[in-house]
Order: sequence, then structure tokens, then C-alpha cells
Amino acid sequence: MDLIYAEATPPGRGGVSIIRISGAGARRLAEHLAGALPRPRHAYLREIRDTDEILDRALVMWFEEGHSFTGEELAEIHLHGAPVIVRRLGQILTSRSLRLAEAGEFTRRAFLNGRMDLSEVEGLGDLLAAETEAQRRLALRVSSGELARKADHWRSLLIRAGALVESSVDFADEDVPEDVPGEVFELLAELRRDLKEQIAGYAAAERIRNGFEVAVIGPPNAGKSSLINRIARREVALVSDIAGTTRDIIELRLDIRGLAVTLLDTAGLRTSEDVVENLGIDRARTRAAGADLRLHLSPEGKKDDSLWQEGDILVATKSDLHKRAAGLPVSSLTSEGLDLLINQVFDTLSVRAASAALISHQRQLTALSEAYEGLAEVDNLPPELVAEAIRRTASSLDRLLGRIGAEDYLDVIFTSFCIGK
Ligand code: GDP
Repeated sequence: MDLIYAEATPPGRGGVSIIRISGAGARRLAEHLAGALPRPRHAYLREIRDTDEILDRALVMWFEEGHSFTGEELAEIHLHGAPVIVRRLGQILTSRSLRLAEAGEFTRRAFLNGRMDLSEVEGLGDLLAAETEAQRRLALRVSSGELARKADHWRSLLIRAGALVESSVDFADEDVPEDVPGEVFELLAELRRDLKEQIAGYAAAERIRNGFEVAVIGPPNAGKSSLINRIARREVALVSDIAGTTRDIIELRLDIRGLAVTLLDTAGLRTSEDVVENLGIDRARTRAAGADLRLHLSPEGKKDDSLWQEGDILVATKSDLHKRAAGLPVSSLTSEGLDLLINQVFDTLSVRAASAALISHQRQLTALSEAYEGLAEVDNLPPELVAEAIRRTASSLDRLLGRIGAEDYLDVIFTSFCIGK
């Protein structure tokens, strides 16, 4: 693989700008720029120069092949954070035939060199994209290899089960087929339990990663836009007292105590003569029905029966004007009830988030579902077919970790990475 470089820190002015150089020959190049290199993984201050010109004084770190992020020879130069310095070093590197890395190329090399598996790569991508605490925590666990370690444990169960089955096949008398040892089914049952738990927790983990959707619904003039604006503490939706002004669904991203939440401001739910408005209403109802939670708003504290689902929250709006028996009283004018409402939303969603698994990507779900289904009804099979099911399950786990079938995913995964990662 050729020698690549990129700025690992965000472009622009800052305390330091880190340039990373990776590939065979990184060491020689770093020696040319910095003179004698420090001990591996130690940072020394060096003058960075190309021929006679001193470019900057910088911390230099150097990692040997097999002991770096990418698994290749890798050098880091911590320059002063001025774009002009970075630009000049970039020119020098280009003139020495180095190529600017593509988005995610360092991580791609780490994967190809066996430094990370595909679940860790996805976890790392999620960690870099994380905006809330729950996202950060989940992504850190996966990028640190927690899912990979589970998969290794599952593989060891399969290897043991496979060995037991093979021996029963090998020693079976031709006329009297040997039974599959009972331990095999215990091992596979343990694996199925684990897989089922992960599959069941996928939906919640996916929501942690992509955000829970909370739809704010209610008839026109119920106070939906006002409430959302109040929550956002800024104007995001058009507020007016003409019915039907909110024709499109407005989305507002929130961080509610660590949980990513998208509030959906739906069009006024009513029947209308206006075709465009009706389109908006249809869309709103579909989105609301599919959301994780609905806040049913109306001044009377009445719910929308056709959309009501267990766990939904009933809100009596404009509580500064009138008190209602039903629903949580909330006023967007005085902020009465607002904190209580947000607490209720958080409580509801955090209960759901608590069941989250480690898998949060469709790709991971597919691999684990395959593994799980491959073991269905294995108890009733003859040894040859049990052995076959075990092999198939093992290859589904290999797929999870990207040991096979990763090619289809790499481009998609790495386009979301930045250059320099
Ligand atoms: P939407 O159609 O459900 O989005 O309703 P809006 O948020 O546009 O509000 C409709 C009208 O009710 C506007 O005139 C708002 O100023 C008014 N309104 C909304 N919330 C409150 C509230 O809490 N108290 C009072 N007094 N008026 C409100």
C-alpha cells in the first residue's frame, strides 16, 4: 500500500495540527523531515525541515509496523496549528510522492491489516459522530471491541460444539447412527439465548444511535408549534393563529439528558378541503404512527384515539387560560408543566433505551439474525446437518466481524468518516 498522509486534526487555526503519515517508508520520510527519530511511541521535539528550510518545531511520534493505528509504519507530526504550516508540509509531502488520504483511509487500513474488526470500525464511526452521552457510551463500548469479544465467545462455543459433533460422526457405526452428544445442544442453546438477547435489543440501540422520534400531534391551534418553540428556546416552527400553517413536518433535534430525540412537529390533524394540506396531514399521521412516542396536545386534554399507543403522553395545552381534568397541564406562555413534560418523555424513552443491545446497525442485525435462524430446530437434526448448521452459524459470525463479505460495506462505511481518520 502506498504512503499516505492527512491532517488528523480539524482544518483551521488551533493549538496544534497533527499530520499523520502511514505506509511502508513512513519511517524514512519522517527521518528526512525530523532527523533522528525518537523511540517508538515517545514524543520528542524536533525541527521539521526539508533540505535547508526549517518549517516548524514540532513534536514527532513514531510507531513501528504492527504497533500503530493502521498496523503500518506510522509517523505523527504535531505542528503548530497554523494553516500555512500545514499547507507547506502538505506541499513537501506531495513533492515526495505522498498521496493525501481518502476519507476513512487510515481506519480502512487498520481493518485490512487486522487491527480492527468491522464492528469496531462501525463503533468508531459512531463514536466520531456521537452527539449525546448515550450515543457516546454505546459507541465507545462497541469501538472498544465489546461486541467482537462477545462474537469470539460465541465462536468458541461453536468450535466446542462442532468438535463434539464431528467426533460423534467419525465414530458412528455405519448401521447405528450415533446420537449427537447432549452437551452440543446445551452449547447451542446458550448461543441462541445470547443472540436472541442482542437481536431483541437492536431496536433500542438503533434508536440511541439515530435518535428517538417523538411526534407532537393534535388539532390545529392546539399549541404544537408554540410548545416546540418553547422547548427549543428558539423559533423553529412557524407560529400563527391561522389554522393549517404547518404543512410540512418540522424536525427538531434535541439532547434530552443524553438521549438523542427528534421532535416532529406535525401538520394540524384535521380534515381539510385543501389538497396540499391534506397531503401534509397524511404524512403527519404516518410519521406520528411510526414514532417512538406521541405527545397528544389539545387545550381540552383530549387524545387522538386513532393514533393513541400505550405509553403516549396526554398534554392539556394553554393551561394559563384554563384548567382541565385530563392530561398534563402545560403552558407555552408561562412554561408551566414544561419540565414535568420533558421528564416524562425522558423517563419513557430511557426505560426503552435500557434494553439496548450492542448491535445498532442493520448489517449487524442481519448477520446475527442469520446466525440465530441457522440454529433453529437444530435439536431434531442428524449429526451431519447439525455440523452443517454450526459451520453456517460460524460464517454468519465471521460476517458480523467482517472476516468475510466485508467488501460490500467498506465503501459505505468509510464515506461517513472524515479525511484523517
Ligand atoms: P398549532 O397549530 O397546534 O401549532 O398551534 P400554535 O402553536 O400555532 O398556537 C395556536 C395559537 O394558540 C397561537 O395564537 C398561540 O399563540 C396560542 N397559544 C399556543 N400555546 C399557548 C399557551 O400556552 N397559552 C396561550 N395563552 N396561548 C397559546
